[in-house]
Amino acid sequence: MTCSHRCILVAAASLAFTTTDAQSPQWAEPPRLVVGIVVDQMRADYIYRYWDNFGEGGFKRLVAEGSFQRDAHYDHVPTKTGPGHAGIYTGTTPARHGIVANDMYVRSSKSTIYCVEDKGVTGVGSTGTIGQRSPLNLLATTLADELERRTDGRSKTIGIALKDRSAILPMGRTGDAAFWFAAGTDGAFASSSWYFDSLPQWVTDFNGERLAATYLGRTWEPLLALDRYHTPLPDDNPYEVPLPGATTPTLPQDLQALFKASGDTYLLRFTPWGNTLTTDLALAALVGEDLGTDAVPDLLAVSYSSPDDLAHRMGPRAVEVEDMYVRLDQEIARLFAELDRRVGKGKYTVFLTADHAGSDVTAYLADLKGSAGYSDDVKLERELDASLIKLLGPGKWVRRVTNDQVFLNDSLIAVRKLEPHQVQRFVADRLLGDPTIAEALTATDLVRENYSEGMRRNLARGFMPTRSGDVLYSYRPGIAEPYSTRIPNKGTEHNTGWNYDTHVPVFFMGRGVVEGEVVRPTSVTDIAPTVSMILGMTMPDAADGRVVPEVLGR
Ligand SMILES: [Zn+2]
Repeated sequence: MTCSHRCILVAAASLAFTTTDAQSPQWAEPPRLVVGIVVDQMRADYIYRYWDNFGEGGFKRLVAEGSFQRDAHYDHVPTKTGPGHAGIYTGTTPARHGIVANDMYVRSSKSTIYCVEDKGVTGVGSTGTIGQRSPLNLLATTLADELERRTDGRSKTIGIALKDRSAILPMGRTGDAAFWFAAGTDGAFASSSWYFDSLPQWVTDFNGERLAATYLGRTWEPLLALDRYHTPLPDDNPYEVPLPGATTPTLPQDLQALFKASGDTYLLRFTPWGNTLTTDLALAALVGEDLGTDAVPDLLAVSYSSPDDLAHRMGPRAVEVEDMYVRLDQEIARLFAELDRRVGKGKYTVFLTADHAGSDVTAYLADLKGSAGYSDDVKLERELDASLIKLLGPGKWVRRVTNDQVFLNDSLIAVRKLEPHQVQRFVADRLLGDPTIAEALTATDLVRENYSEGMRRNLARGFMPTRSGDVLYSYRPGIAEPYSTRIPNKGTEHNTGWNYDTHVPVFFMGRGVVEGEVVRPTSVTDIAPTVSMILGMTMPDAADGRVVPEVLGR
């Protein structure tokens, strides 16, 4: 580019900006498209640890051109995928949006319901229970709902993810569509009758390409020389669970052979090509739904599920996990490049965050002499029952210990004419006497008191009386659920209110965004109010996050 050419461009650009600025505020000409990107189980420290292996067009572009909130956290427990995705898009926590867990224990039926389970709908593009999904359990509006109201229903609002809950919850109850991966032999994306009776033609065409099977026809080779990955561990180490069907947790991995043996494209979820397929569908949605091509703002919610599926098996020090992130960086760059080309730089706004972070493999930390150990819900339930029998007489006093909550047998408490709070109080005190437990609060206390700080706040913000337990507790830092009780000392979980589970990256980039860093503490619940400001629309109805003013241009 010659100097004069460049100077004219700069002059034209600043003139255009000045004109717009003088005539109307930014929100009067909102972005044509908002793209929300969620990376499932992304720790904030991956940005720092993997930095020198990233290219220029993905995470580094978000840092260079965007606004980076470096101390952003979840302030609720449990830190899980359903509550996290609902929180990002509603701007609030389970106490208000109602998605209190991935699997929610229901007192009346004494059973567990999956957070997006809905027996009243049927699959579209799939058969069986994978299609019986909807946002029925979500009790607050999301960015998608509010954008539909703002634009008199003219916006296109589309949710995409391999995981059903990650596609569905961002769309609220009135978003246009959600598509998730039905796996099986076909590897198709499906939806449910909540949204429509048949798949849009562009999704049917996409499924017809059978890309999942194609991607599983390859060998997963490390992208970089092994000495470029940031890990103190050898690729073959005792803390990792191999991919489904594999014998060693190492690269290279012959995916074609594993796929041939199982015949199930579910394997794709544990590989970097799960992210590739997700990007492919997002790009197909841009074309198929004409997203961002007119003045009516659209919303595309994309969630990358594979980083979570893989990190659960291998933990955050695995070569495989870093390899997936280096490739995810390329996928995000591919998405941005296409947004530039189709919608136009400066005409769309992106945010990127995670639905929760995740801890190191607990056994690894313990082997380093860290303060770390595994929790055991079955043992805890047995011990609580034993001490309640001692105190109150025979009976099955504990209905269920799950999600770090104790559900008591309310009918037995009623039959024995006991005061529920006294039983709750005994359980909480008993838990507080356990050296592995940091905090325990009763449901009665949580209804009466206002806990505004620390772990008590996190417990309170995760608590909804009709959906939560009778006693909520938190283990001390380093104490984690096992990934699988059948495979001890391997893999990792996330659930707690400690920093390794709560600290996630938050980026904004594009229209309406001022580049820079925000280092003061922010909450993930601040994302939705901030997006609402950029779009010039009302907040999701129960949002209690705050706008982050450093992000906003005028
Ligand atoms: Zn997870």
